[in-house]
Amino acid sequence: MRWRGMDGQFSDFLVIGGGMAGLACADELARNGASVVVLDKGRGPGGRMAARRVEISDATVSFDHGAQYFTARDPAFRETVAAWEAAGVAARWPAAGEDAWVGVPGMNAPIRTMAQALDVRWSVRAERLVRDGAHWRVEAGEQSFTATRVLVAVPAEQAAVLLAEPAPDLAALAAGVESAPCWAVMAGFDAPLPLADTFRSATGPVSWAARNSAKPGRASAEAWVIHASPQRSRELVDHPKDEVAQILLADFFAATGTAPVAPAHLDAHRWLYALPAALAGEGARYDAARGIGIAGDWLHSPRVEGAFLSGRALARQAAIGAGQ
Ligand SMILES: Cc1cc2nc3c(=O)[nH]c(=O)nc-3n(C[C@H](O)[C@H](O)[C@H](O)COP(=O)(O)OP(=O)(O)OC[C@H]3O[C@@H](n4cnc5c(N)ncnc54)[C@H](O)[C@@H]3O)c2cc1C
Repeated sequence: MRWRGMDGQFSDFLVIGGGMAGLACADELARNGASVVVLDKGRGPGGRMAARRVEISDATVSFDHGAQYFTARDPAFRETVAAWEAAGVAARWPAAGEDAWVGVPGMNAPIRTMAQALDVRWSVRAERLVRDGAHWRVEAGEQSFTATRVLVAVPAEQAAVLLAEPAPDLAALAAGVESAPCWAVMAGFDAPLPLADTFRSATGPVSWAARNSAKPGRASAEAWVIHASPQRSRELVDHPKDEVAQILLADFFAATGTAPVAPAHLDAHRWLYALPAALAGEGARYDAARGIGIAGDWLHSPRVEGAFLSGRALARQAAIGAGQ
């Protein structure tokens, strides 16, 4: 008979973090017949594959302010992406490259689709992981969840904090990873800018800019996402976002040689842990004796595909460890 926590929220697995890594992991475990509950502190699906909708001059415009597109090279990921394409939630975006894919109608669409098939609790921030006899209890504000095994799929810096007490060895691994920040600017304009759909620079303050409205399935109003380089993002890391938005818009016009135009909408978002210096080769790590494991792009490669493959790898290790 299953032991039940005071609140009855018991599962075989608790996955903390409902980004690509956590959901790829939960999906694989659930397919193998395990009961899985995913906790995510976000209000809705996305993680770093985020999309934001805003009203500009009575039109709803979307911005992908996190990941811009993803590639699919591994056979397992290609199969998953083909299923998303068939379901209409992903499409190729040739402007970014031959093998570039985007979520439709926003980057978070594949995450939303995966989450719909799982038991995901949004707006639940895991605060403490406690070993309780043969089980794990996860404390999240007023709520607590209990499971036989707990899998942590959050950015390295956040994993280091969460795991410090219950799994110091895993915490130490995470603490060795440093992520670069990224300031993302979302700018809407009344008329098209005289530019190609994408801009990249390996050396300037703007590393990437894209006409978001040119991606498949987006509204046609002129919308741009501008990413500051890691160096520029560090320089501006503690500046107020409205100030950063103005500075990076000026950087963008200078970098692209475009005459400055007043935006109809301007906002910025700071990703503190955007791109980790990943521990390539790890993939994922699972401690079968204690029933705790970790996944995330920082254990594979700092990309959507890397997060997916890490999540899948952890699910396989955990399922073997659990004899499933
Ligand atoms: C600006 C930017 C641009 C990028 N561009 C690209 C690109 O073009 N192509 C590409 O392939 N990749 C890109 N990436 C990287 C890509 O987005 C990530 O590699 C991938 O999405 C990481 O997935 P993840 O599941 O490991 O982490 P995340 O997506 O960060 O998911 C972690 C989840 O954990 C949740 N969480 C954290 N702490 C807790 C807690 N205590 N309790 C509960 N939930 C918690 C968060 O809310 C989040 O949903 C970009 C990232 C950024 C930020």
